[in-house]
Amino acid sequence: MDASFQTQNPMSILSRLRLDRENWFICYDCLGENDHDEAKAIFHTKAAKILVLGRPIQQCPRCGKNNTKSFAELKAEGRDSTVWGLERAVKKHPRQQFEVNDSPKSPGLSQDNPTRVGS
Ligand SMILES: [Zn+2]
Repeated sequence: MDASFQTQNPMSILSRLRLDRENWFICYDCLGENDHDEAKAIFHTKAAKILVLGRPIQQCPRCGKNNTKSFAELKAEGRDSTVWGLERAVKKHPRQQFEVNDSPKSPGLSQDNPTRVGS
């Protein structure tokens, strides 16, 4: 009889963590390849997702595979301890370590000069 309960979650924990969970991801392939070192499997990106079997999936910028899941998804699945552990790993490292995608480190490169395929 308390159907309204689920929409009235206290936000205190969320605001304390201040992570935009929908933009944080874990790559299970990278996790496996790095001896389950979460710091090497977590990434943060706001890049557009790709559709895999009709579901939007974030492509891993490290390995290029799609075996990823956002913190928000994990949270939605009720895997709170997993999310907690991942966020703990995030806080232990400088943030730029996880921003694999949107930190172009080649400022001197020849402007925006796309190579066109075909003639
Ligand atoms: Zn990966």
